[in-house]
Amino acid sequence: MRILTLLRRLLGVSGLILEGVRFEADTMVVAVRPRWLLPRCGECQAVCPGYDHGRPRRWRHLGLGRLRIQLAYTPRRVHCADCDGVRVEAVSWAPHGGGFTYDFEELVAYMAQVTDKTRVTKLLGISWTSVGAIVRRVVDRKLDPELLDGLRCIGVDEFSYRKRHNYLTIVVDHDRKRVVWARPGKDAATLQAFFAELGPERSAKLECVTSDLSGAFTKAIEEAVPRARHVFDRFHVQRLASDAVDQVRREQLQDLRGTAEGKQLFRSRFALLKSPWNLTPSEKGRLSAVQRANAPLYRAYLLKETLAQALDYRQPIRAERALKSWLGWASRSRLAPFVRVGRTIRKHFNGVLGYVKEGLTNALLEGTNNKIRMIAHRAFGFHQPHALIAMIFLCCSGLVLQPPLP
Ligand SMILES: [Zn+2]
Repeated sequence: MRILTLLRRLLGVSGLILEGVRFEADTMVVAVRPRWLLPRCGECQAVCPGYDHGRPRRWRHLGLGRLRIQLAYTPRRVHCADCDGVRVEAVSWAPHGGGFTYDFEELVAYMAQVTDKTRVTKLLGISWTSVGAIVRRVVDRKLDPELLDGLRCIGVDEFSYRKRHNYLTIVVDHDRKRVVWARPGKDAATLQAFFAELGPERSAKLECVTSDLSGAFTKAIEEAVPRARHVFDRFHVQRLASDAVDQVRREQLQDLRGTAEGKQLFRSRFALLKSPWNLTPSEKGRLSAVQRANAPLYRAYLLKETLAQALDYRQPIRAERALKSWLGWASRSRLAPFVRVGRTIRKHFNGVLGYVKEGLTNALLEGTNNKIRMIAHRAFGFHQPHALIAMIFLCCSGLVLQPPLP
């Protein structure tokens, strides 16, 4: 077997010509050139007349054992009529403007999908900034161009990151369980941009839109898709009740500051906010201490749990009955935060009940939210929102990568 044929098999490359190989310390540098004779524009791929010789360049490729591998070539510069200027020619093994081969980028993106920052950078020996740039290029190349087609039931949610100073608006497809759209911002205009991109034809096919109870999203949804059913996510409705419990707890704490009872109350936060089936024995103990010592706070806890039970019903008629009785209790509870939650739910009664009617589950939005929180944590160091958005698409849009593995 000829040495270059062997090398080609080892590198797993095709569509290029190998010209030679040399070693530099722990790096094997393989000289290559494209198969095509006439140069093509790196930006638009059109065949163009040559302009001059550019500078020698190298592309990092998948390593072999301990050996780093670089492909080396001096791309020509072309004069492209379509791009109206001089451009560096396209090469078949790497994207325009990057320092890595397609195979290497696919592996990096795959690793970024499945593991954390430290491992990716350490195992592949590249900086986190390079990982960010690669993820963006791979997502650009591989993102399903039909993400916005055939949408029937979507969910809209805001996501805060960097200590709640920045926001993204995220749209998920409830049927296919994936993120289909994301953009910085959290107001009506942000969501209007989504509906503008979707266009009137695809918007008209939407049957159901879920969201939180904020006025901003409601306005944009009612304007863009007035005929779709607008449903409020259980996730967000229940969060209103959790926030109200926390508020009651803080009010009680203020009255009891400095006392032993106050100290006990201070430690009860997690026990009060968690779901009962999730409580540890010591949290159960704290909860029963609240029950003995602080009637208003325990009432708030019961209100929160009863609301969750009302939304647990799968039959709309039973959920409706339970929700109405809950509203009566909330308004008589003498707990101002719950009186306010009751008013909000009453105002959006059909949208809250719609959640049960649609038979939707919390899993998608809550799961996506948690996953994005993890990604945002991992993407810390990506200072731009578009880098975070690329990571979200990489991990939550159903993008399947095929890393070049044996
Ligand atoms: Zn061009």
